[in-house]
Amino acid sequence: MNKMKVLNEINEKPMDINQLCRKNILELQPYSCAREEYQGKQAIFLDANENPYDTGYNRYPDPYQREVKKKLGSLKQVATENLVLGNGSDEIIDLLVRSFCEPARDNMIVFSPGYAMYEVCAAVNQVEVRKLVLTADFLPDWEEMWRQVDKRTKLIFLCTPNNPTGKVIPLVQIEQLVQTFRGLVVVDEAYIDFTREKSAVNLLQKYRNVVVLQTLSKAWGMAGLRLGMAMADPAVVGILNKVKAPYNISSLTQQTVLALLDRYDEFQKRRDEIVSERGRLLTELRKLNLFQQVYDSEANFILVITPACRKLYQYLIERQLVVRLRDMPPLIPGGIRMTVGTKEENNRLLEVLKQYK
Ligand code: PMP
Repeated sequence: MNKMKVLNEINEKPMDINQLCRKNILELQPYSCAREEYQGKQAIFLDANENPYDTGYNRYPDPYQREVKKKLGSLKQVATENLVLGNGSDEIIDLLVRSFCEPARDNMIVFSPGYAMYEVCAAVNQVEVRKLVLTADFLPDWEEMWRQVDKRTKLIFLCTPNNPTGKVIPLVQIEQLVQTFRGLVVVDEAYIDFTREKSAVNLLQKYRNVVVLQTLSKAWGMAGLRLGMAMADPAVVGILNKVKAPYNISSLTQQTVLALLDRYDEFQKRRDEIVSERGRLLTELRKLNLFQQVYDSEANFILVITPACRKLYQYLIERQLVVRLRDMPPLIPGGIRMTVGTKEENNRLLEVLKQYK
């Protein structure tokens, strides 16, 4: 199907987020939390079957994480109405598929090599995935993509910087897609803090159909707390809020995140250190002459290629160095992804690699 035909068929109606949503979700009467009507702290709470004795955690957390959203909102320069928080951004990926794709009818587009969770969530929800191989320079082939889009394509997932290639998709290309596609463009920016490229968050003011995913798991160093976010149109936010479990972010996570987000200087310092170590690792890895290819990266990892990837992986494991095999033909056969560690960890990695025969 050519691009214009698709556009003509889909463009008949103006963009309406509710029309993209599954009908049963649109009609869903969400679970209402006991304390939605009362937001003070002074009352006697006999509404939620909690234990009255204080353990520090005897009360349910705020289902809408208002305090955390206030702080994140000002950090990311978005209104709290544009924010949904998830138990990691993985939860939000699942929420998007569940809310917008009708099982066994709708489809979504992903690119390969890419982050595997999009497909896992699709499979769990019985949603067809149209998986397109990136071009040799690791960018989407837009022409080919348009051939795959049809009336039942609800979501297009872009990952930038991409896992595992570390490549950024220029924001102008993302904007063109958002402008043209009549479904949701999900831009996964888990690694955005490691690049100078601008965030797609800037598109939110102009377009209703862009959803930007970010996480505190990477540059912020809070993977163990599980906090991811979607920044999106309030209509998308409303839908995801209806579908999510009411208390999806624990009190412990909310409190800890609030405290750690204040340490902006520390965040910046560590992030800068990782970026600088990434540069050093790239140079040193290239000098080793061990790899067919050591790819540039805008994230906190480096992708290398060697036909002996399994042997090398085993060699590293035996020396307590754990990397990730990303042997993903056709584009990156023999791929290994190495996360940038501390200076000492990276030195150890290089030293062990130098001894490899
Ligand atoms: N998106 C990408 C591209 C990732 O690499 C990851 C983590 N590996 C995630 C999302 C999920 O992150 P989290 O659930 O920790 O927020």
